[in-house]
Amino acid sequence: MNLNEAYKILQIKNDISDDELKTHYKSLARKYHPDVYRDDPNKFKLINEAYQTITDHRENPHKNNPQINSGFGFSVQDLGDLFSSQFFNGRRAKQVQHITIPVSISFVESVVGCERPLKYDRTVKCAACSGQGQKSRHNGCKSCDGFGKIKTQKGNVSFVGTCMKCYGRCETDTCKICNGEGERTENVTGTVNIAPGRHTDDTLSLRGRGNYISDNMFGENYSDVFIKITVEKDDTLELVGNDVVSHLHLTLLEALRGCTQQVKTIDGMQEVTISKMVKNKDEIQLSGLGVKNTPGTHRIILDVQYPDQDTLDKIISILEKKNGDTVKLY
Ligand SMILES: [Zn+2]
Ligand SMILES: [Zn+2]
Repeated sequence: MNLNEAYKILQIKNDISDDELKTHYKSLARKYHPDVYRDDPNKFKLINEAYQTITDHRENPHKNNPQINSGFGFSVQDLGDLFSSQFFNGRRAKQVQHITIPVSISFVESVVGCERPLKYDRTVKCAACSGQGQKSRHNGCKSCDGFGKIKTQKGNVSFVGTCMKCYGRCETDTCKICNGEGERTENVTGTVNIAPGRHTDDTLSLRGRGNYISDNMFGENYSDVFIKITVEKDDTLELVGNDVVSHLHLTLLEALRGCTQQVKTIDGMQEVTISKMVKNKDEIQLSGLGVKNTPGTHRIILDVQYPDQDTLDKIISILEKKNGDTVKLY
């Protein structure tokens, strides 16, 4: 990339001050960082390249002649507070790899809430090489610190310049901890708290607990972990809103006379008393047996079984005899 192109890409004039350039670059880098700007991941790379071209030129306008190295200006390292230098080393932002973990819970657990142990693998940035995959090694040069840099003092100000002997040659070793990957696999164990009132296909997200994506201005950036819930079906109980709902079958006689019945609840079997003359689809409510920490209740819907045609005929004839008149049953 030549200098004119670089200025064009950053949309600035070539007489912009170093400070203005730096500020302008930071705002562009924020705007087009691949974590926030997904339309064109190359844009960020291009901006970095343009910025580096301009700063390289300002730092060292006669690059081909190392004798005239001014050792002045600032370098992209100044931006270490903003982004890790790995972006400038050509590492591309990866596609976000979220982690999804299926978790199955019982019906009762879905109503009262539960905890589940969590165990999964994720990738983390390699601390040994700061995610670079490479570690700098002494380049053997005796004129500098062995890493191509020379510190010079001018009055109270010190400058870091490039070593003239080795031309700042960098020598690196592949990181042995991560085998040059820049990241390694970590086994995560923990627990996830599942709140009361969850349904099948509800998804909980654990933000930033997934795979290493990149460094950004806030530090290391990790993908999310999603806990996808499946609630095991119960044969008699179901969850409707915050209410547990079940059906109770009553014969016509039980519905007319009233009765006592055992019903299944989230808290085991409970005895309920049905008063006389209840109607089909009447409801009985058991408070405190719905979704925990909500006003939800256990609603028992009464399903009254009507007599078959034969039995109905008999009942009608009995009633007719008794009253000497046809009586409507319902
Ligand atoms: Zn490493
Ligand atoms: Zn040197």
